[in-house]
Amino acid sequence: MGKTEGAMVEEEEIVIVGGGIAGLATALALKRVGLSARVLERYPELRAVGAALTLSPNAWFALRALGVDHKLTSVYHTLTKSLVTNLETGATQEVDFAGIKDRREDAVVRPVHRKFLLQALAEELPPDTIRFSSKLISIKSESLEDSSKATLLHLEDGTIIKAKVVIGCDGVHSAVAQWLGLSEPMKAGRSAVRGLSVFPEGHGFKMQVRQFLSGGIRAGFIPLNSTDLYWFVIEKSSSGNPELILKEITTNLAKDFPSDFLAVAKNTDMSTLTWAPLVFRAPWSIALGQAHSANVTVAGDAMHPMTPEIGQGGCSALEDAVILARCLSHARGVQHWPEKALQEYVEQRRWRLAWIVACAWFFGKMQHSGGTGKEWWSGAARWFRDRVFYGFIFSRIVDSLYFDCGDLIPAKSKALLR
Ligand SMILES: Cc1cc2nc3c(=O)[nH]c(=O)nc-3n(C[C@H](O)[C@H](O)[C@H](O)COP(=O)(O)OP(=O)(O)OC[C@H]3O[C@@H](n4cnc5c(N)ncnc54)[C@H](O)[C@@H]3O)c2cc1C
Repeated sequence: MGKTEGAMVEEEEIVIVGGGIAGLATALALKRVGLSARVLERYPELRAVGAALTLSPNAWFALRALGVDHKLTSVYHTLTKSLVTNLETGATQEVDFAGIKDRREDAVVRPVHRKFLLQALAEELPPDTIRFSSKLISIKSESLEDSSKATLLHLEDGTIIKAKVVIGCDGVHSAVAQWLGLSEPMKAGRSAVRGLSVFPEGHGFKMQVRQFLSGGIRAGFIPLNSTDLYWFVIEKSSSGNPELILKEITTNLAKDFPSDFLAVAKNTDMSTLTWAPLVFRAPWSIALGQAHSANVTVAGDAMHPMTPEIGQGGCSALEDAVILARCLSHARGVQHWPEKALQEYVEQRRWRLAWIVACAWFFGKMQHSGGTGKEWWSGAARWFRDRVFYGFIFSRIVDSLYFDCGDLIPAKSKALLR
């Protein structure tokens, strides 16, 4: 402990701001490579906003590298396909999660409860790693005698923490991203309502994603197990009262939607109902922006907020965690190691993330294009979406979800350790 401007200063080697998927996965990845970090979370407990999410093969590869995949694979089943029905034409596109190339057996898509995922990560961390009720309010940089940098983190409760490395995993409205000067996330012009429905006697649906498109609305549901279903509606409303929106969905917006979907939505556990406007960072900002500065960087939504249509925000946050920890581990011992490691991490991530964010945006545009218009361009947009996009382009996007971020410790080094 030291003193700055009369206040007590706590010292930490690595501080992660935010205890969501990115923050916890990064803390665990660092632990696995022998580095320890403190996680600052503004809320008094872990929060799982959005009930559930689907995890693609890239997420499972990362979870395997983190050594927690088995905890989830033993509980959650594989989703084989997504059935997307255009309610205006009656056509159903079958999207096979197996993609277009030869696949490994462990390359699958599974849904998980968000809370379960957060707990699976958190319970691997040493006690007291997560410091709850610790909201970051401002950041300052200071030069040390050896010309390296340290960062002072000011918390809402008056605490100041001096850190050698700061990783902002503080979500879409990240204070760390703002401090780095990254561009503000852009509005996608759509919002998402999500909820969890529980049928104690069993819901009876197959392990398939069901999606319905109509009038610019995309809605769907995903079984999590034999009793729980996660459902969502993506549409253009700009107000944020989820209960009113649910009422609107079941009485008006989705009244022409299949009864299966309405039955799922009507059975929502209201404590899980959420509304969120969809935002994304422009892909060119991710590719060319300054996502690190000396010893500060960002990961997860703080670095690459994206629209949810290809379900990659959380998956790519898990990739970030593994790659960032590997870069820090490799650089350790070298002079000015944090700077070199963070630079390497951002170089490895920026183009892939820009591509993923662009794919998500394009996919969202395609799914929400067309509407009910009878004009030729409206029909052409629908034709492009149903025939060209789902017929050819989607499988290429699916391919990029099979990225394997690799092990935390390269196989060569593991062999040397034996
Ligand atoms: C509708 C929708 C559906 C989605 N579906 C999927 C899907 O199927 N698959 C998928 O992979 N992804 C999906 N995503 C994306 C996924 O939810 C996010 O990418 C993921 O949650 C990002 O995790 P994160 O840890 O980066 O950020 P968050 O989950 O936002 O976590 C940030 C954490 O930081 C804390 N925090 C924030 N500010 C501060 C501060 N100043 N001080 C201290 N703590 C702070 C917050 O309290 C929070 O705990 C979806 C997103 C939406 C909106």
